[in-house]
Amino acid sequence: MEKEFWRTIEMEKCYHCGELFSQTFRCDKCGQEYCNRHKDPIDHECNLVRESLNMQDNPSHQHGGFNYEDSYAQRPQWTEQTPSPNRRGPERRGTTDGSFTWYREQRYVPENAFDPDSGIEFKGILFPYKSEALHLLVGATLIFIIGFIGFYNEQLIELDLTWSIFMLAGFYTTAFLFHEFGHRQVAKHFGLQTKFRLLTFGMIITVIGLVMGIFSLLLNTVALPSLALPGAVVVLGLDKINRQTGLTKIAGPTVNLFYGFILLIISFLIPTALYPLNLFMGYAAALNFILGGFNLIPLGILDGKNILQWNKGAYFLITLWMVIFLVFTLLNIYIVEISLYIPR
Ligand SMILES: [Zn+2]
Ligand SMILES: [Zn+2]
Ligand SMILES: [Zn+2]
Repeated sequence: MEKEFWRTIEMEKCYHCGELFSQTFRCDKCGQEYCNRHKDPIDHECNLVRESLNMQDNPSHQHGGFNYEDSYAQRPQWTEQTPSPNRRGPERRGTTDGSFTWYREQRYVPENAFDPDSGIEFKGILFPYKSEALHLLVGATLIFIIGFIGFYNEQLIELDLTWSIFMLAGFYTTAFLFHEFGHRQVAKHFGLQTKFRLLTFGMIITVIGLVMGIFSLLLNTVALPSLALPGAVVVLGLDKINRQTGLTKIAGPTVNLFYGFILLIISFLIPTALYPLNLFMGYAAALNFILGGFNLIPLGILDGKNILQWNKGAYFLITLWMVIFLVFTLLNIYIVEISLYIPR
């Protein structure tokens, strides 16, 4: 009787979201149990799971046509690079997930997880054991250069407004840094281990954008808007969508909303006699609303996805205010007839 009872209420944990379900599905690629939402290899970032487990359990993977051991045999240097003495131990370690900013498997996060001997592998992170200051310096410098190229404009130089290019690049850099610090400080508040890290994939995109920007400068063509995301704050120990995850994620766009709001107020406090300083301050505000708004898109690695999963009301509220402020700021920048920046 008792056995039967247990059988019916036995719950399995989804390896991806950590929630308990009465029915789970076994992925035959990585061998873990998943809920209905995460049963697809794409939805549980199967490659990363397999990398983190290093296929120690050697689960069956009859179909799929992808022979995992072979692919590893071809790159033995990968295993040697791994600094972890624990990796072959019985205890499983997690890995950073596809967003590169979160770390699941909270129960396995060791103390000083960012240390080389912690047993955690940081996939997709450049120089994982270098100091946070160095990562911040490299990230901020790249953002500044990308911003400078993006705002560079012959007309501004002819009008003797070269300072405005530096000013906008500077505000662009702080908008990015403050956003990341928003995530970081809230995560720290929850006692989570967190650091700003340069991301391999983001750096590739950033460097491509940088090269394209330099070329368009040299060839005197319009620079395409390039995505600058050299790095992000990595938070360890967020393993499911809950209040802690939601607040940590929403902190970035919230910082941009408030920072942009303050810059917008300042732009209106600057006397119109100082035009176009006030206009450029308005630009700086708009940069925050654009950056915050972009990160609210509920797709892929962007903050919006997890915020929406956590709390729809909070998501729509912050998105609404971001859009209202962005539209209001852009109207003042671009519509001369109604702009509060133009001296009359
Ligand atoms: Zn799940
Ligand atoms: Zn899988
Ligand atoms: Zn963010």
